Amino acid sequence: MSNLQSALAVVVGQGQLFLDGDIGERYRVDTTRRHTSRPCCLVRPATTAEVAAVIKIAAIHDLPVTVVGGQTGTVGGAVPRDGGLALSLERMNQIVETDPMSMTMTVEAGCILQHVQEAAEAERLFLPLDLGSRGSATIGGVIAANAGGNRVLRWGMMRDMVLGLEVVLADGTIISSLTKMLKDNAGYNWKHLLIGSEGTLGVVTRAVLRLRPAPTTRQTAIIAMDSFEEAARVLHRLEVGLSGRLSSFELMWQEFFARMTEGQLGRRPRPLPLDHGYYAVVEAMGGDPEGDAAQFERVLGALIEEGLMRDAVIAQSDREAEGLWAVREEMEAGLRSLRPFSVYDVSMGLGDMRRFVDHAEERLKAAFPEAVVLFYGHAGDGNLHAIVSIGRMSAEIQRAYDEIIYGAVREVNGSIAAEHGIGVSRAPFLPWTRSTSELALMRQLKATLDPLGILNRGKLLDALDT
Ligand SMILES: Cc1cc2nc3c(=O)[nH]c(=O)nc-3n(C[C@H](O)[C@H](O)[C@H](O)COP(=O)(O)OP(=O)(O)OC[C@H]3O[C@@H](n4cnc5c(N)ncnc54)[C@H](O)[C@@H]3O)c2cc1C
Repeated sequence: MSNLQSALAVVVGQGQLFLDGDIGERYRVDTTRRHTSRPCCLVRPATTAEVAAVIKIAAIHDLPVTVVGGQTGTVGGAVPRDGGLALSLERMNQIVETDPMSMTMTVEAGCILQHVQEAAEAERLFLPLDLGSRGSATIGGVIAANAGGNRVLRWGMMRDMVLGLEVVLADGTIISSLTKMLKDNAGYNWKHLLIGSEGTLGVVTRAVLRLRPAPTTRQTAIIAMDSFEEAARVLHRLEVGLSGRLSSFELMWQEFFARMTEGQLGRRPRPLPLDHGYYAVVEAMGGDPEGDAAQFERVLGALIEEGLMRDAVIAQSDREAEGLWAVREEMEAGLRSLRPFSVYDVSMGLGDMRRFVDHAEERLKAAFPEAVVLFYGHAGDGNLHAIVSIGRMSAEIQRAYDEIIYGAVREVNGSIAAEHGIGVSRAPFLPWTRSTSELALMRQLKATLDPLGILNRGKLLDALDT
């Protein structure tokens, strides 16, 4: 055993150190399988003190450290460096405390998101963050990626749900600020710098999460509109008409809706006919069992009468609600014939979304007349997904797609990374969405917090530079 390996084994115990070929595949690839690696070591510490000791050893040996969470990110962010150290916090998976009075939960970073959601529900509390990857994504991962999901419209992103944070910095310093306050303006708020930093500025080890009272009612519908302008007006009207209860507005362009519902036809009927340009899954949550459903029906009915909304189907049970959500979330069957394809996750002001879609689609079709281009997303918060397929893939095709999509994003002053972060794949396009002075500031911050560049080396700014 080398000095490095012996030192790591002393900290985490021999049984929690894995070398080369003994490192399982799940620590070496992300969900896209586009990025793979061969780290020299994997360690699975059990405490924050062990994490700090591991980081100190890595710094002495100039060993790049990548925190591997649930590996559900799609930009290669959690794929370790070849020859580097993979750090898994999966043994740090305890719910430390639930405080119903403060409505907080203190958790270790290796907790799985769904377990935390369920633990909150057991106390009649609610963690609003919800993603399709809830069964694998970790709390450390959703904090490091500042994850969003289906309910950002009402409750915000992960950033809005983190009250206190504990991190280990690149020199092994532990900063523990496990506070329960919403308001804290005592100096710089370093917590928000760490949230969304993709493991490049510190390792998140514990967090205090802000919970909400659990909603007791839920109304779900799929609605149809004929134009994007109608869809945007309907969104705004629902926000007001439902008295702030609107929690999701997942917009789907007709071709996306057509393909997804076609793919599911054997299992469930298409909820609305294919007569309209735009569809949306809308959901409201509340606490008035007598009034909420009636209010929902009344508001949707009024929008149809006015001619703004063209059609709607409202779920009458939880099972029907799951069926409506499946149109948006169960994408496998609808996408099978399009493989291989690329997925984008961009954001912009709602007022610019139509222009972005028109430009991106027009240019993709001009470059690749056979292209299938599907648009959908969490449009209620300005986040849009695009799927692009011409039935084959190469590095050149990927680059051409990227330039068209990110070029159209740049024209509307949008972001190339609404979710998932930058990682490796999106780094070449970071300057298309951030100014030179912003990038210089980011470099200064990184150099200050991680002067040796050991934390997630090769990602984000590093990936831009290589
Ligand atoms: C089906 C599906 C649906 C998804 N839906 C959404 C969605 O709606 N919204 C959304 O935002 N994302 C979504 N994602 C992306 C992904 O689930 C999120 O980015 C999630 O936050 C990643 O968590 P993870 O534990 O898998 O992190 P990983 O993918 O393992 O890591 C992500 C990044 O965080 C770093 N990291 C992980 N843990 C820590 C830690 N403890 N300290 C410091 N850095 C750390 C990693 O090094 C890496 O850079 C989806 C993914 C899938 C597969």
